[in-house]
Amino acid sequence: MNALGQLDQLVTFFKNLFNSLQEGILFVGEPLDIALAAMDILITTFIFYYILRIVRDSRAWQLLKGILFIIFLTIIARVFGLSLLSYLLMNTISVFSLAFVIIFQPELRRALETVGRSGLNLFNPRVGDYQGERAATTVSQMIESIVQACDDMAEANTGALIVIERTTPLGELQDQENAVEIDSPVSTSLIKQIFVDSTPLHDGAILIRYGRIAAARIHIPLSDTVQLRKDYGTRHRAAIGASEMGDALAIVVSEEKGTISIAIEGRLYILENSDALRTQLYRFLLPDDEETEGRFRLFRRRKKNKGMLGPKIPRSRRVLLIFVSLISAFALWLYVQATVNPIEAKSFSVPLSFENTEISQERGFEITYPTKNIQITLTGRKSLLDSMTSRDLDAYIDLAQIEEEGIQTIRVNILKNTPLYTRTDHVTPDEVTIAVRKIEE
Ligand code: ATP
Ligand code: MG
Repeated sequence: MNALGQLDQLVTFFKNLFNSLQEGILFVGEPLDIALAAMDILITTFIFYYILRIVRDSRAWQLLKGILFIIFLTIIARVFGLSLLSYLLMNTISVFSLAFVIIFQPELRRALETVGRSGLNLFNPRVGDYQGERAATTVSQMIESIVQACDDMAEANTGALIVIERTTPLGELQDQENAVEIDSPVSTSLIKQIFVDSTPLHDGAILIRYGRIAAARIHIPLSDTVQLRKDYGTRHRAAIGASEMGDALAIVVSEEKGTISIAIEGRLYILENSDALRTQLYRFLLPDDEETEGRFRLFRRRKKNKGMLGPKIPRSRRVLLIFVSLISAFALWLYVQATVNPIEAKSFSVPLSFENTEISQERGFEITYPTKNIQITLTGRKSLLDSMTSRDLDAYIDLAQIEEEGIQTIRVNILKNTPLYTRTDHVTPDEVTIAVRKIEE
């Protein structure tokens, strides 16, 4: 189906929706229908919220807003029959959607990796290199060593780049041709020694894995997705590049300015001093289930989302995001209900059956009845009706209600074997005529 066709569908959606809503109870249905719909909407809301949180403050956000705006304009143009304009806008959307995927490939990749990581953490909370019983002291020792080294190096205007692996494995960096394997505990003096200008190891980054300095002289693929201020050079760009590799952190000490910066999830934060660095490192590296010194409790409570979703966002912003997600999920749900899963009618042919034949036999009645099929027309959700066959329906007459001889007509009862709501519109015939004769003994 082409794009214009899809749009036509969108426009007729409101008509369908209106028709569906007119059906009242059918649209809402039984408690089970409501529960399922609520679950549907809530899970979708959660997914939308998650996506919004990931793209919220990247450049993708702006483009996403642009695309939504154009879609909105297109619908308006379409509704008012401005066919040339809507044709142009429609094609713009296709181009933009393609551009979105290409331009934001790194962001999208990171978002998918984030989903993968947090999915993993759900099943195995112990995954990740900095967790476990003994890790906490090692981590705080490691952080203190790094902070001290950065403080000293900033003071002395020694340039440095430190990449810290978290849950995304960075083995590929270590395996580089020019990298020098070190595999030694993290210590202030070693870090400082590595970055001293005249040493062979100072050029490039050091990589910290599993709480150890794994290698030095690592070349990081530069990030080309960020416009960086002119006075920040390749080292800072490399740090951003490193932070785009999954959830790695990168710390830069600037040789020219003597400043410390940290790159997280593709963004560079220039820090005030080494205390700010300590704060950030504790926030991202210390597991929350460890008993460590009391002064770190503060960070622990907030930490949970940080690793997955980046820096904390204000509550009002979060409420707005949840609200937007909920509205979009609900709108989409309505759309799906009215287009993909509309209310329809379907006819079934069901053989007539008899209940309580034993009772009428005990009473000595002999009954002659026509064998016929009953036509039943149900109205309900398309997905439900599609899945139903005549075997899910039962059309029967109840012989227990016969008390005397003669020709009589009895109502046909319908039994529907589904917990979801459907309305029975027609039953033909809805009565059958039977002949009852008493057998004398
Ligand atoms: P500074 O403020 O310290 O000067 P900068 O951002 O201006 O940092 P440059 O002066 O361009 O960066 O580079 C300085 C050093 O950064 C290089 O000598 C090299 O050691 C390191 N560096 C540059 N690019 C990379 C890279 N891709 N991976 C690892 N290290 C790098
Ligand atoms: Mg420079």
